[in-house]
Amino acid sequence: MKTSWLAIFAAATLSACAQAPPEQQIVNDAADALGGRVRVQAVRTIVMEGTGTNGNLGQDMTPDATGQAFTLAHYKRAIDVAGGRMRIEQTRTPTFTYFQGQPPQAQVLGIDGSVGYNVAPNGTATRVANAAANDRRADVYHHPLTIVRAAMDAATILSNPRTHDKERIVDAALANGLKFTLAIDIATKLPTRVVSMTDNLNLGDVAIETTFADYQDVNGLKLPAHLTTKTDRWTTADITVSKQLVDGDAGDLAAPQAATSAAPITGPPPAVVSAQEIAKGVWFLAGQSHHSVLVEFADHLTLIETPQHDTRALAVIAKAKELRPDKPLTTVVNTHHHFDHSGGIRAAVSEGLTVITQKANAAFYQDAISRSHSIVLDALAKNPKPLKIETVDEEMVLKDGAMTVNLYRITGSPHADTLLMAYFPKERLLVEADVFSPGSAVNPYTANLLENIKRHDLKIDRIVPIHGAIAPYAEFLKAVPAAAK
Ligand SMILES: [Zn+2]
Repeated sequence: MKTSWLAIFAAATLSACAQAPPEQQIVNDAADALGGRVRVQAVRTIVMEGTGTNGNLGQDMTPDATGQAFTLAHYKRAIDVAGGRMRIEQTRTPTFTYFQGQPPQAQVLGIDGSVGYNVAPNGTATRVANAAANDRRADVYHHPLTIVRAAMDAATILSNPRTHDKERIVDAALANGLKFTLAIDIATKLPTRVVSMTDNLNLGDVAIETTFADYQDVNGLKLPAHLTTKTDRWTTADITVSKQLVDGDAGDLAAPQAATSAAPITGPPPAVVSAQEIAKGVWFLAGQSHHSVLVEFADHLTLIETPQHDTRALAVIAKAKELRPDKPLTTVVNTHHHFDHSGGIRAAVSEGLTVITQKANAAFYQDAISRSHSIVLDALAKNPKPLKIETVDEEMVLKDGAMTVNLYRITGSPHADTLLMAYFPKERLLVEADVFSPGSAVNPYTANLLENIKRHDLKIDRIVPIHGAIAPYAEFLKAVPAAAK
């Protein structure tokens, strides 16, 4: 009797394992592969050190280019597994001509509960916006140990088990509201990647995906030594871990008091738009970091730049309509594709404006307009309109009886391949973005801008920048390296 009871017990146990729901089985398999449920649940902290790169999301030479990166040194990622806290310390050096110059920059990027924070090299801590903090909360789980441990939690809802190519895949909704997709290798059962969805101002609903490779043995666990993170199709981090520590000293991962005591930042600050008429029919719309220029033609108005986000772009559009209520605002000229300069394009389209941009941006803006923005509804998601676009190859003239503006492509700039500048021949004004920002500590793109100015034989009295104050042409010349003049 005794033997048969044992046999029945053993059979029941086996059948319970075999009959775990498939979504649970994926998580069980992953936990076993990483070192076993008990070992995975016992982990308190992980510290990874290594090297790698950060991509330059939204700021590369063209919308699809991926050649620009920051090389990372002294990379350290410390995670308090149970506490949901993480801090990344790194020193990044641009491998390209960067607008802030070439010196290495030390960064500290942290998350503690719902408080995201950065610590500047001088020790000053600041709270980051809630949207960035939410991305960092999710990033804590972009690691096999943290996501599998969370997926094992009884309060986590697992669903949609599936097989795709060489992966078993399951969705996991955590008790804290975060949602992930976990994939494991069919053969080794080790996690291959984790995916979470977030809102990106320019790209809308995007997947952030981290893939795991080069697993190694660490304190009875298998942990990846190569982690690659993408936002949509763009790589944002590629990390090779040279040293891993489980339950060692992770340091103090608490958010600094300056960050915890700061008010949550739920969105951009209210727009402040000042208007200065700098020539007849030309207004400089400034007030914050990114400016615009309003141009009055005989029967319509054109804006140069609707930057940043809905808040700024819609405020600039409203100011244009307020200044000349009797003329329709029909068009926006976009200086280049960089996310901070194109972040208001969707808002402009929602207001019915035609977008004029350099030819290399056309496919990107078609895509940007058609993307889903369901996580955060923006102006265009609330008020859908088709994209009306006109592209500039090398130059375009906007001209009627009242106004002439020549648009030129800025060629050969190390800043971007999609730049347009706007020249007002009668008023002797040049509007440009990023390639000369008066008052900036460094201006690494001025030699190329001067070449472009000379090539078109432009006669300029004042530079009207998208960043910084209007400057006499002589001030620009002073910012050009002597060898380039
Ligand atoms: Zn730029």
